[in-house]
Amino acid sequence: MNETARHIVIVGAGHAGGVAAATLRQTGFAGAITLIGSEPYPPHERPPLSKELLAGAIPVEKTYLRPLAFYADNRIVFHPGETAVAIDRTAQRVTLKNGDALSYDTLLLTMGARARRLSLPGADHPRVLYLRDIADSLALREHLKPGVRAAVIGAGFIGLEAAAAARKRGAAVTVLEVQREPLQRVCPPEIGCFMADLHRRNGVELRTGVRITAIAGADDALALYTADGGTVAADIVLAGIGAQPNVELAQAAGLAVDNGILTDEFGRTSDPHIFAAGDVTRHFNPLLGRKIRLEAWQNAQNQAIAVAKVMAGGNQPYAEVPWFWTDQYDVNLQIAGAPERWGELVWRGGVDNKAFTLFAMEGGIPVAAITMNNGRDMRAARELIARRRAIDPARLADTQVKLQDLAKESAGG
Ligand SMILES: Cc1cc2nc3c(=O)[nH]c(=O)nc-3n(C[C@H](O)[C@H](O)[C@H](O)COP(=O)(O)OP(=O)(O)OC[C@H]3O[C@@H](n4cnc5c(N)ncnc54)[C@H](O)[C@@H]3O)c2cc1C
Repeated sequence: MNETARHIVIVGAGHAGGVAAATLRQTGFAGAITLIGSEPYPPHERPPLSKELLAGAIPVEKTYLRPLAFYADNRIVFHPGETAVAIDRTAQRVTLKNGDALSYDTLLLTMGARARRLSLPGADHPRVLYLRDIADSLALREHLKPGVRAAVIGAGFIGLEAAAAARKRGAAVTVLEVQREPLQRVCPPEIGCFMADLHRRNGVELRTGVRITAIAGADDALALYTADGGTVAADIVLAGIGAQPNVELAQAAGLAVDNGILTDEFGRTSDPHIFAAGDVTRHFNPLLGRKIRLEAWQNAQNQAIAVAKVMAGGNQPYAEVPWFWTDQYDVNLQIAGAPERWGELVWRGGVDNKAFTLFAMEGGIPVAAITMNNGRDMRAARELIARRRAIDPARLADTQVKLQDLAKESAGG
């Protein structure tokens, strides 16, 4: 087909959708591009929504990937506030909520994920809030003021970041976590304890091993009931209990879906005309040798770039060590790799230090790393993980041995 006659439709104008549209143009794709997004905003990044935007330190526009004019200037037809409701794979057509239908030659699905909802009595109270998009962040921010009691259910990244922002705005914060320590799903317990201490030092009442069973609301106060018979009083509740991928559109169209739209390392779905990228995918990662679903900035950015290049005719797979960061108070925590468990650990420095790095090992091979206020170790740590070669744990633990030197040795050996 003549490239200029080709029409690429992108469903989902968040981070991955916006990056993919721009990359298609940057790589010289000359055909038509249509970008459809449910939100009223241009494509934007989400990390500030639980940090700077929530704390009131930046305006909404600072989260945009590019100014709105970029899309028209680059012949990208952008439909904000519009939702795709059906895909007809035989006719290669997407139907929008407003009844319009768009024909595509190639379709990219970047519908992201949504906040998982609490399912317990009283959870539908209007002051039980979630944090996924700009509207959520602005709505929550309205409530966060000195004297307000905020209860955060869930000590995962979103809950902890929101707790830190709420403290910055002077709210009294209680974090309620059902597990024994924060971040249990993604970090070893030592890191969870470190983060718990950090929050307590900053005035958060952090309670672990607490299960909320119901929420009762009068006009101006909420009561959270716990499984052990206690209650927690709050003016506002934020539930940060995870996210689930927006797969329904793909599922209804008969694409292969299993905790995310299944793709290969090129972003190809089970339909040769349809690709997917970002949080909505469970994609094959050649470095890990398995399929993985990520909720991370790096994946939204770099998988979208890689997949857009493939859609424009390239043949390079997306193959990176997963990477994630969080900022809370004066702490920067970064994680590389996605281990199924944090078994054997090698520490460079210890939790008593303000800055340290640790590695998770499997059979003498580093498979994941965490840097705490030590981001300068991250590049070398990711290289070491990508090489998948055994390393002497004593040298890895020795802070006198530069990680960069170990990475070079590992590359050469
Ligand atoms: C509050 C928050 C803080 C974060 N902080 C960090 C961080 O510090 N570090 C880090 O590494 N990662 C962080 N992340 C994760 C990361 O930035 C996201 O995973 C990233 O935004 C994923 O991009 P995406 O394009 O796949 O999905 P999204 O950005 O969610 O975009 C999907 C878009 O598709 C739209 N959509 C869905 N269905 C349809 C439809 N049918 N039709 C049209 N549009 C549709 C949605 O409305 C949304 O706008 C954070 C995420 C959140 C929510």
